[in-house]
Amino acid sequence: MEYFDEAELWSREHIEETQVIRLRNTLARVRQCEFYRTRLDEAGIGPDTIRHPDDVRKIPFTTKQDLRSQYPTGLLCVPQSEIVRMHCSSGTTGSPVAICHTKNDINSWADLMARSMFMVGVRKEDVFQNMSGYGLFTGGLGIHFGAERIGCMTIPAGAGNSRRQIKLALDFHTTVAHILPSYALILGQHLQEMGMDPREFPLRIAVVGAEPYSEEYRHRIEDMFNMKVYNSYGLSEMNGPGVGFECLLQNGLHLWEDAYIPEIVNPETGEPVPDGEVGELVMTCLCREGMPILRYRTRDLTRFLPGECACGRHHRRMDRILGRADDMFIIKGVNIYPMQVEQVIMTFPEVGQNYLILLENDGIGDVMRVQIEVREECFVEDMRVLHNLQKAIAMRLRDEILVTPKVELVESNSLPRSEGKAVRLRDERAKK
Ligand code: ADP
Ligand code: ZN
Repeated sequence: MEYFDEAELWSREHIEETQVIRLRNTLARVRQCEFYRTRLDEAGIGPDTIRHPDDVRKIPFTTKQDLRSQYPTGLLCVPQSEIVRMHCSSGTTGSPVAICHTKNDINSWADLMARSMFMVGVRKEDVFQNMSGYGLFTGGLGIHFGAERIGCMTIPAGAGNSRRQIKLALDFHTTVAHILPSYALILGQHLQEMGMDPREFPLRIAVVGAEPYSEEYRHRIEDMFNMKVYNSYGLSEMNGPGVGFECLLQNGLHLWEDAYIPEIVNPETGEPVPDGEVGELVMTCLCREGMPILRYRTRDLTRFLPGECACGRHHRRMDRILGRADDMFIIKGVNIYPMQVEQVIMTFPEVGQNYLILLENDGIGDVMRVQIEVREECFVEDMRVLHNLQKAIAMRLRDEILVTPKVELVESNSLPRSEGKAVRLRDERAKK
């Protein structure tokens, strides 16, 4: 197997021995900040508590609220002069948190990112175009440094501006891109509108992440561009991208366990769930100097995939993210995630790029509406055809989520678009 970093090949035993050593070092390091020192002393935890990676469970959780309470620099474990960069989370779910990195932190992050992209076949001969936002968002510089580390010619194109993206990609023959799932289909449509076939576009690989998307959605992007799409997972609190990444087999995301200890817990009780069961991902940094974070409650829902991956790497795999705990909505007593809706509607070939779930209260009860863009060529069909499509989608949704939503078919490009992460759900029930 070709690899970028020897750590990819480590055995389970070697991974676990290293985790113990690195977790102990991290527990010693976090004593530099008052927040963790107090918290760990109260719980009676020190480096010696850790004899096995599972001993991580003895450490108290860190929540987003904790990080906010320590904003901006309360969690620093080195003098501020050692910090070379800071990033913030996108703030999708509230006020931001800041994460500060030392030179070594930036270095090991770039290594993790390079390892991830190398794993799916990115090589120095590739031209890499980063189509995600730069600035505080980690999908910009985080992935950028990884691509440079591999040696790719790296184009920091930034988000949006399809015309410029297309020109750059054609002029420099871009073979690999980092792109948000919601933007990938928009870009393809733009190419079509310009009279080009996205399948003729030079891209061969796309690294796609930063927001949840379904397997059906992946297939759409792959088919549209005739390229491979690999799922990339990360979060600012754990650096950013480079935390979990699919290998060539596209069968779950390997979590880099030499750099993190992942756990999946029941979000209500905080207890570990059995392997294969869905729960909340909890992550501990093992290598970070500037701002190590212990047992971070990501709010992201997924499950460990059982068994070893056929690629030969022993780093555990997680399933694609089902959604954020915060995205779950309850309607008529049923818990639903936007991804369940996406999974169903994207299997209909008539369905276009974009959709929006609206929750309202009509004075009598809660109403769920799903607005779905329909491909232009289908929208000109006669009313009866559209009506049947509407009914078919509503029925398939009812089978999946046990609630019958009002399905509304709308014209292509008519739903609002965001430059960053897509907004899939609007809950207006509280406003009445
Ligand atoms: P914010 O939480 O403000 O969006 P980040 O920019 O740090 O901040 O984004 C991290 C979050 O993005 C993750 O916690 C997760 O919810 C989501 N995310 C990142 N990558 C993926 C992915 N491949 N699939 C699903 N969700 C993802
Ligand atoms: Zn694998």
